[in-house]
Amino acid sequence: MKTEYLYKQPKTLLNKGTGFLTGYSHSLNPYTGCVFGCSYCYVRKMPVSLFRNKEWGTWVDIKKDAAEVFRKELLRARNKGPVTIFMSSSTDPYQPIEHKERITRSLLEVMAENPPDFLLVQTRSPLVRRDIDLLLRLGGKVRVSMTVETDLDEIRKHFSPQAPPIQARLKTLQLLKEAGVQAQAAIAPVLPSSEAFPDKLRPLVDRICIDDYFMGDGSSGKRTRQMGIHKWYEPLGLEEWHEPSAYQIVYERMKRVFSEEQIYISQQGFEP
Ligand code: SF4
Repeated sequence: MKTEYLYKQPKTLLNKGTGFLTGYSHSLNPYTGCVFGCSYCYVRKMPVSLFRNKEWGTWVDIKKDAAEVFRKELLRARNKGPVTIFMSSSTDPYQPIEHKERITRSLLEVMAENPPDFLLVQTRSPLVRRDIDLLLRLGGKVRVSMTVETDLDEIRKHFSPQAPPIQARLKTLQLLKEAGVQAQAAIAPVLPSSEAFPDKLRPLVDRICIDDYFMGDGSSGKRTRQMGIHKWYEPLGLEEWHEPSAYQIVYERMKRVFSEEQIYISQQGFEP
């Protein structure tokens, strides 16, 4: 399907951290819309998507001259108090158009000059490796959270065919580690995975976060039920992985190779 790209001049970049992001003063979205179009993405049921009247995953607004707006906003926010930023809550900051547009990179450049108190970069894209130079300038004030919902690429293809392959994400975690950038693997939402998953992650990260639809959708599973996500499990015969208890399968497996202090559950794993 062809993606519709539009340039938009944003009035504001920093949004107040609310709901799931209570630990953050702000969220930051370099784009509106996301071509990864994951089947389980809640944003498709949020006003930003509903008012658009186009299928989620088929359109992206590019926030033109975002760095100029953001530079002023960041200065103002920092004068008022601590600034902790979640990037991004309703898009992937490293979706493919970022190769060319470099909006996320321009925001990181602003932050490298005037660092916030903490920045979480939430992505599932290997493109984040391009910005290792800037992430290193933020040092201990940044953590990259790489979504790795499963270790099985055929499962990834079923639930989010447009998203980057699992192997490329694991490789990126390795590069971040070698470079000395703080990172975690976010198994979020938990998808069906193999017994070997913990051993694949263990050399790459010292911190993992496990989250599922029921703890992490901000409505105790209501949104998930409205979206009918269980239908995606039926053709695979893997309905048991859509139970609220499924995250425990992964948790128990991870405990074999990670210590309990290294395993964060749901919201806890995304806190500054
Ligand atoms: S990458 Fe994130 S924002 Fe984009 S569609 Fe998937 S879940 Fe939604």
